[in-house]
Amino acid sequence: MSNDVISNDNYISEEDSRDNILVCDGLVKIYKTKDSEVFALQGLDLEIKRGEMVAIIGKSGSGKSTLLNMIGGLEKPTTGKLYVDGNDLFAMSEKGLVEYRKSTVGFVWQNSSQNLFPYLTSLQNVEAPLYFEKMSEQERKERALYLLTLIGIDHKADAYPSSMSGGEQQRVAIAVALAHNPKILLADEPTGAVDSKTSNMIQDLFRKINEELGITIIIVTHDLSLANKVSRVIMISDGKISTEKIMKEKYKEQLDTLSSESLLEVESHEEYSILDKAGRVQISKDALDMAGIDTNKVKVEVKDGKIIISK
Ligand code: ADP
Ligand code: MG
Repeated sequence: MSNDVISNDNYISEEDSRDNILVCDGLVKIYKTKDSEVFALQGLDLEIKRGEMVAIIGKSGSGKSTLLNMIGGLEKPTTGKLYVDGNDLFAMSEKGLVEYRKSTVGFVWQNSSQNLFPYLTSLQNVEAPLYFEKMSEQERKERALYLLTLIGIDHKADAYPSSMSGGEQQRVAIAVALAHNPKILLADEPTGAVDSKTSNMIQDLFRKINEELGITIIIVTHDLSLANKVSRVIMISDGKISTEKIMKEKYKEQLDTLSSESLLEVESHEEYSILDKAGRVQISKDALDMAGIDTNKVKVEVKDGKIIISK
C-alpha cells in the first residue's frame, strides 16, 4: 500500500502534491446572465510545479482572469476541481478559504490603483497586509523595507503612489503581494499599463523573485515579449489550454544576456499541443489549413512510432 493521502476525493496523491503546487482538473466556469450563458472555462486541465514560473497568454475573453481568480480563491468553478498544495480548494470551509487567500496567494493586478492604498506611503502599503500577522512594529517595518530593497524600490519607501511612475507603483505592488510570504504569486496583466522598457524591467524582476525566493509565479499577459523570458508559456483559447511552449535548454542559460526582443527573433521555445486524459488533442486552425484538412473526419494512423493525421 502506498502512503497516498487519497482517503476521499478531496485530496490528490502525496506524490502529486509534492511536485505540483497546483492541479486544475476539468475546470468549467459558466457565467449566467439574464439572457445568456458564457462559458468562460471549458474543462481546463493544468498542472504547475512547485517553484515554477509560467506565463499564460491568450486573447481577450479567453478566460485568463477567470482562471487566475479561481486559483486565487476568489471565484468558484461551476464544475471541476482545483488542488493547491494537495488540498481541494473548493471543498474547504469558507473560513479555510479566507485563510487561504490571506496566506497562500499574493495578487498583482494590472491597475496599480487596485494594488495600493493612495493615502499610504510605499512602506506603509507593504506593511498593511502584515497587520494580520503576529509581529512587532519593528519586525513589520524591517520586513517591508527588506522587500522594497529586494525589488529595488527602497528609495521610494516614503513616497505616496501619486508621486511615483506607473512602473514604480507596480514594483511596490509586487512587494505588497509578497509581504505575507505567499506560496503562489499571481499577476494579471501586470505590465498592461506601462511602456515596453518598464515592462522589460518588471519581467526581469519576476524572474529574480522566482529564482531568489523560489516562489511559484503565474503571470497572465497578452504581451508576447513578457512571455518570452519565461521558460513555460501556456496558451489559453476558448477557456481551455490549447498549446504550451517550453523554452529550449540552451536559451535558459543565456536568459540574462538576451533581450526579450532578440528572443522574439530566435526559436527560443518549442511548441506542444495538449493531450487530455480522454486522448483528445486540439489542432490549431493554422496547422489544419497548412495540411489542407478541411473536413471533420480525419484518418489517424501510426507509422514508425509517429501518429499521422490526414484527410
Ligand atoms: P480574459 O481575462 O482572458 O480577457 P475573462 O476570464 O475575463 O477573460 O473572461 C472570459 C469570458 O467570461 C468573457 O467572455 C467574459 O466576458 C466572461 N465573463 C468574465 N467575468 C464575467 C462575469 N462576472 N459575468 C459574466 N461574464 C463574465
Ligand atoms: Mg483578463
